[in-house]
Amino acid sequence: MSLQNIKDSISKAEGDAGRAAGSVTLIAVSKVQPNDRVATVLNEGQRCFGENKVQEAAGKWPDFREQFGEIDLHLIGPLQTNKARQAVELFDAIHSVDRPKLAKTLARLAQEVGHCPDLFVQVNTGEEDQKAGIMPADADSFIAECLAMDLPIKGLMCIPPVNEEPSLHFALLGKIAARNGLTGLSMGMSGDFERAIALGATHVRVGSAIFGARVTG
Ligand SMILES: *Cc1c(COP(=O)(O)O)cnc(C)c1O
Repeated sequence: MSLQNIKDSISKAEGDAGRAAGSVTLIAVSKVQPNDRVATVLNEGQRCFGENKVQEAAGKWPDFREQFGEIDLHLIGPLQTNKARQAVELFDAIHSVDRPKLAKTLARLAQEVGHCPDLFVQVNTGEEDQKAGIMPADADSFIAECLAMDLPIKGLMCIPPVNEEPSLHFALLGKIAARNGLTGLSMGMSGDFERAIALGATHVRVGSAIFGARVTG
């Protein structure tokens, strides 16, 4: 696979779903990828990237920004409150707002720093113990709480359980977003982004299908 293949598949999925061309943002998930692979994708023109760890992102993106200019950087992994300031300063969007303590910290930092990244509330649609995200039953009140703090909540994010049909989770996320008046839907990864687009994804997070398998250890 390659960046162009993925972009073509996204265009096709937009068309198949009767959605406007360009209505889906591709976030190229570069976590753990060697810098030369990331540079290749930057050279191909991609300017929107996702990372799941603040520290790792802080180690590579300031240099890439110096070299390649403006880059739209999204935090898609869990955020500890003690890293929130660094995240607010580094990222253009945070997809993992999932608890009142973090929301309050972000609201305070937005005041102090003078700006706030676009925010997505992560919903644990599969109600999995080990997974981050607010429970579906608590989502409406948490979203209201965030909006009351003037946080720029753009939409919702989910990571479906590995062994379940993701479409059920995408549909649930869409329903929660719609009833809360939110338009952004961060959902869909390498294996299921077409299904996510069919169900209204506005942001797909695609890693291995662009970069190849992640090299770890
Ligand atoms: C790693 C990761 C992705 C990308 O996964 P792929 O299967 O490689 O496309 C998407 N979203 C989150 C939250 C991730 O951590």
